[in-house]
Amino acid sequence: MLQRKFDEIVKGHFPNALDAKDTSIHYLGKMQIEYKLDVSKVLMATSVCSDDINVPSTTFFNVLFGPFIMGGLGGLPFAGQTGMTAFAHHIPDEGSAFIFYGPHIGLTLEGDLGKMYRPRQEQTGNSCGALMLALDRLKDESYRPEINDDDYQQMKLEESLLPYREKILASDSQEKAITEATYEIINEKIHAHLKTCKDEFHVDTVTLLGGIIINTDYGLDDYFDPKNFEVIKLSEL
Ligand SMILES: [Zn+2]
Repeated sequence: MLQRKFDEIVKGHFPNALDAKDTSIHYLGKMQIEYKLDVSKVLMATSVCSDDINVPSTTFFNVLFGPFIMGGLGGLPFAGQTGMTAFAHHIPDEGSAFIFYGPHIGLTLEGDLGKMYRPRQEQTGNSCGALMLALDRLKDESYRPEINDDDYQQMKLEESLLPYREKILASDSQEKAITEATYEIINEKIHAHLKTCKDEFHVDTVTLLGGIIINTDYGLDDYFDPKNFEVIKLSEL
């Protein structure tokens, strides 16, 4: 019942979103049937936020090997080119690679974006915490993130968001806008790292699935709003 109610609320904000099971069945099916990829030999990498709430979302695909964790705060692939190279070296022989990436956003039954009820907490908290903190800071026009060793990921995330600042602040839903901007940043970086590291792969196929993870209440399925599914031939990059 609650799941059905959530389904309506999620689809009000993200009409294309699928729940966890539908996401995994749909995309693993596509890989196997449409693209003839042997899913028993696929190594997965994730570039999703460090937040504990995202751990179940990466089990969407737990029939695959992995995950190799590329992501840090906000979901940016902080493991960089070295991470992409290491991932490339770990893929099963005659297998292929799968990268699941994107930011996350909480949603409550009341329809509030950027918030969620976490396990055994009475009050809502922010989700994604890193993005909502960045949003708060970006509202101050004089704010400039300062890259430093002790808060490297957050500062780098905020710096990456600066070019999107006006668009985010002008949006009716700033929480959704900052999440979508972060998706763009992650998507671009994953493609860039793939391109620079393509010779490190000893297989020719990499499947990408990028989008926005939508966190619902504890105990209910998360949702995923797919924005990019592509099966890349590395030899064609
Ligand atoms: Zn987060």
